[in-house]
Amino acid sequence: MGRAANEYSKDRCTKLMSHFCLLADPAAYSVSDVDVLINDQQRDYWVKLFADHFEQTLESALIAYGKTHTRPIDAARRQFTASLAPIRDGAYDGEKPLGIIGLCKLREQALRDHGLHDPFRHIKRRENESAIAQYHQVIRHLTAMPDELRWERIIRGIFAGNIFDLGSPATMGYTTDSVDFDESIDRIKPRPWLVDGFDAFMDMLPLAAGDPAPWAKVVIFVDNAGADFILGIMPLARQLAGHATRVVLAANEHPSLNDVTADEAVDLIQQLGEVDPDLAGYVEAGLFEVVSTGNDIPLIDLSDVSDELNAAADDADFVILEGMGRTVESNWNTLFDTDALQLCLLKDPDIAARINGELFDCVCKFDPVEFDEDEPEAE
Ligand code: MG
Repeated sequence: MGRAANEYSKDRCTKLMSHFCLLADPAAYSVSDVDVLINDQQRDYWVKLFADHFEQTLESALIAYGKTHTRPIDAARRQFTASLAPIRDGAYDGEKPLGIIGLCKLREQALRDHGLHDPFRHIKRRENESAIAQYHQVIRHLTAMPDELRWERIIRGIFAGNIFDLGSPATMGYTTDSVDFDESIDRIKPRPWLVDGFDAFMDMLPLAAGDPAPWAKVVIFVDNAGADFILGIMPLARQLAGHATRVVLAANEHPSLNDVTADEAVDLIQQLGEVDPDLAGYVEAGLFEVVSTGNDIPLIDLSDVSDELNAAADDADFVILEGMGRTVESNWNTLFDTDALQLCLLKDPDIAARINGELFDCVCKFDPVEFDEDEPEAE
């Protein structure tokens, strides 16, 4: 089993080895990534986006690591430029199809080869601090709400938190410092959302305090640090824990953009527990676990996850995927053996168009597991 959130340590097993154990059909699974080489328009769009974004990443790295790191930063720029050149020029002879996952891996490789493992670390730290400062108020507000309104507010909070994304030009300038989170929630588009399975989700939820949720254990694939994790995901996780659902928070092993890592998640939960006695009680009662997915990019290939995740997920009956990268970009059509919920805010026009949406549309895709009661168990 994974470790309880208050017992997490760095010596865990993170060996990458297998399909996620809750996939409905592991043999048929493939990530729903695009082929960026499929036409000139797609290729030019993505190469330019990654090239421009890399410059912003290096500017951030200069602040994170200081002027002593000018040489590795220049070397990373040369490496990534050399990686993109054959793609741009139609001379790419690497692994095909080349998707967003492939481009992310080239980017992370160029950074890590030169010791720039976490170029956004100072921004994550700042965003974590300002989100922690607002956490108590957000929880107090939710707790004071009527039961029937609270769950929608929690889901809207996830969309509002998901705005903090350093991978998208549309949201790179966002900071929780300058905005009141409750106001951010109020600015989220009204229902019905672009994809809106909220009513079906809501039908399964308990309303009264103390009533058990229908799920014994949920695995939540989390996205970003800051408001996303602290003010979006944690209110959902503690609400489920309050209805007796055990919570597994599955986070990246290594930093990538502003994604929260498993180590960071453990640290943040401990900090939040200091101002949230209910959360501290859930953690103490063993209702929270943090595991590393083994992943190191903002999307996720569920054919290649850690043993640690699978051990913790083995007896789960609900999967939540959060963030555009882990949902629309890589697992839009993925079927699970359990109920599944995909939640994200669309922050890239090209990806939004893939599901007939536009910038800042909200996605709440609920896929309850289907039991075919008429089907015989075996031939
Ligand atoms: Mg992210």
